Amino acid sequence: MCIRTFVKINLMHFSDLGLSPALLTAIQRANYDTPYPIQVEAIPAVLQRKDILGLAPTGSGKTAAYILPILQHLLQQEAPRDRQVPVLVLVPTRELAIQVAEVTENFSRFLPRRIKSLAIFGGVSINPQMMKLGGVEVLIATPGRLIDLVGRNSVGISRIHTLVIDEADKLLQMGFREEMDHLLELTPKKKQTLLFSATQDQELASLIQQLLKDPVEIQVAPTDFTPDAILQEAYRVSPETKGPFLRQLIQSGDWKQILVFASSIRTADNMVVKLNKNGIQAVAFHGDKSQGARTEALAKFKSGKTRVLVATDLAARGIDIQGLPLVINYELPRSPKDYIHRIGRTGRAGATGHAISLITPEEQHHFKVIQKKMGKWVTLVPEEAFGKPSDSTGLSEQSEA
Ligand code: AMP
Repeated sequence: MCIRTFVKINLMHFSDLGLSPALLTAIQRANYDTPYPIQVEAIPAVLQRKDILGLAPTGSGKTAAYILPILQHLLQQEAPRDRQVPVLVLVPTRELAIQVAEVTENFSRFLPRRIKSLAIFGGVSINPQMMKLGGVEVLIATPGRLIDLVGRNSVGISRIHTLVIDEADKLLQMGFREEMDHLLELTPKKKQTLLFSATQDQELASLIQQLLKDPVEIQVAPTDFTPDAILQEAYRVSPETKGPFLRQLIQSGDWKQILVFASSIRTADNMVVKLNKNGIQAVAFHGDKSQGARTEALAKFKSGKTRVLVATDLAARGIDIQGLPLVINYELPRSPKDYIHRIGRTGRAGATGHAISLITPEEQHHFKVIQKKMGKWVTLVPEEAFGKPSDSTGLSEQSEA
């Protein structure tokens, strides 16, 4: 296995990576200036039809790292006239499917020939997806729905030349191994496989062994995505003042968008009702909402039509909201990992982020556990100090005594 460890290469340009003028124009039109490190490593290797093992979290620019060279390959051949797709991207969630399709479409619309892509996922009616499958060149799919559509002969994956497995660790964690094995059986032996994962464990190692042939390994150091780029603040509030404090906080700044996390669907729904009652436009995003409602809520939030999105941890992973200025933890997640995922929605792609947590006395101990796991301490400030310069109050206290 050829291992390429992540090195920051600032001097590289997209034009150094072997991409054709058509792709370079699309990149320019999409306003990408300089390639991210994973793109510097992956694009030439994918263009050379090598298998890839990309150890990279969301936010590293991995989607463009695989989709750009794939689009270049597709431009060199004719669009299929049947329902046999040439490129399959397997993803764990509907949200990621939609996101990858958006990135693909974003580049594709500037190409000399429009490359047709489609995201298919469960939880919504199958018929509209079935009707759109003709001539698709990049199919982005969650495993269950794909098995369904293949079973109905609505789409074929027996002639794919490129397979991407995105967030492979999450696919395994979500118990999709059997479905994946079933689907992989249906794909040709000879194909290029690109596998991306944020974490590595034994199960992933066995999948890698099964799938990848002499892959180029690219590691994007997780340290690049530690919370260092994110300004973290914490306020000590009482359970009674938490709600009013949140509203005061939201109204105190001119943040374009605010993502507020709650730990349960009920709290999220209640919070939305309260915020709306108080004249703060907010929408809920959680697993109890229909797929349609979730997609709409996310689209409105992304476009800036809704200022506050109140979400459960469903939104903590994978969702990419460009330039999100503020994350508020109304309640803490149980797992420290989820805390990092939550605050990682801000401060992405080189931007500075901002995360504020509201901590009741009961949550104080758990917050310490989270900070210990994160390896970074956040000063806990009494709510009375809000809005005052921190050094003039004399009120701030270290949460680590
Ligand atoms: P990803 O890791 O693929 O989810 O990408 C994270 C974010 O970075 C997305 O908002 C991309 O649009 C953005 N992005 C990826 N590559 C570049 C680049 N070279 N220049 C600017 N933005 C980028």
